[in-house]
Amino acid sequence: DVRITFKTEIAVIGAGQAGLSSAYHLRNLGLAPGTGYVVLDKSPHAGGAWQHRWPSLTLSTVNRVHDLPGMQFTDAIDTADPEVKASVAVPRYYAAYERKFQLPVYRPVTVKVVCERNGRFRVETDRETFSARGIINATGTWETPYIPDYPGAGLFKGRQLHTRDYKAAGEFAGKHVVVVGGGISALQLLDEVSRVTSTTWVTRDEPRFRETPFTPEDGRAAVAVVEDRVRRGLVPGSVVSVTGIPWTPALRAAQERGVLNRLPMFSEITERGIRWADGSERQADVILWCTGFRSSLDHLAPLQLREENGGIVMSGRLATQVARDPRVHLVGYGPSASTIGANRAGGAAARELTAYLNAGAIQG
Ligand code: FAD
Repeated sequence: DVRITFKTEIAVIGAGQAGLSSAYHLRNLGLAPGTGYVVLDKSPHAGGAWQHRWPSLTLSTVNRVHDLPGMQFTDAIDTADPEVKASVAVPRYYAAYERKFQLPVYRPVTVKVVCERNGRFRVETDRETFSARGIINATGTWETPYIPDYPGAGLFKGRQLHTRDYKAAGEFAGKHVVVVGGGISALQLLDEVSRVTSTTWVTRDEPRFRETPFTPEDGRAAVAVVEDRVRRGLVPGSVVSVTGIPWTPALRAAQERGVLNRLPMFSEITERGIRWADGSERQADVILWCTGFRSSLDHLAPLQLREENGGIVMSGRLATQVARDPRVHLVGYGPSASTIGANRAGGAAARELTAYLNAGAIQG
């Protein structure tokens, strides 16, 4: 059997916004770093998935990165320059945050698998093996890019890449690029790429643009829809599908350039491009799949948290607690998959999980 080299009460897996918020609240609840809680993070540096974002994503082009509890972004970042790269600024903020609250983050540590052993969780990593009574999982989605299956994908002689692999539009100059997807990232990359080369935009559903910006009420309504889904054990679904995409000056300009002439999804990929069901074709050199991400939860598979439909029934005040096993919380999942949602979810998960484990200890 695998030797346990580190025993703790709660293992937080992932040190993005969700993991750091959880760690902050565990610390404030009085858990000792190390024996009380640890944070295990696969990435080489502080910053969660933000350290991996493409260089043209700046503080002015992100939606908004909310402050973590207890420390403002501006306390760590001395420049308010909106053109600073998100992949630089946010990691700097998270690093300062980890230092300020002396959070016990171990990295790079990849959690390979979590299984149950004698009423505790055995957390196997590429380094130590941890034993914990409770798990707060905060592994985000970045590690699990999603590309739908289309016939002929293997035949394509051009280049296929996912949002995750995008670096800069310049590398596509002179090529025809098919951008697939109707979310915010798809539109941002379509806008950038279409400034340097020709593009075709395809989406599965008719995109829904909205004239008015998001209001806090819109945000709450969208979150409520996703929360209702996960409480019923359905897969979370995307928030944009609920809210629609607000027009921005950049999108208006893209529309004037004729770039937003959306075509329906093609039915197959050919050696040289794409083909629709009616037989029409378009040649392409690149297919850029902006088709989103799935929750990175494979390491929890032995715990059998999923229902037959692939969803997980969630409970607790903010739907962070796994109904099948209340010792496991998922933060940054479903309704809390945003920086503000992750903040709140971390607090709820820390309080509910410690209360649950303490009650168990008294009974035991
Ligand atoms: P992450 O930041 O992804 O952190 C997860 C951490 O877990 C990573 O460090 C990863 O290395 C680690 N990890 C993963 N698997 C393992 C493992 N097996 N073992 C150990 N560690 C592991 N939200 C907003 O609120 N505002 C925005 O402006 C915004 N812009 C976005 C732009 C893009 C392009 C994308 C893709 C998303 C954006 N989001 C935005 C959503 C955003 O991802 C979340 O809001 C939030 O940052 C996610 O935080 P997280 O902690 O859940 O995950």
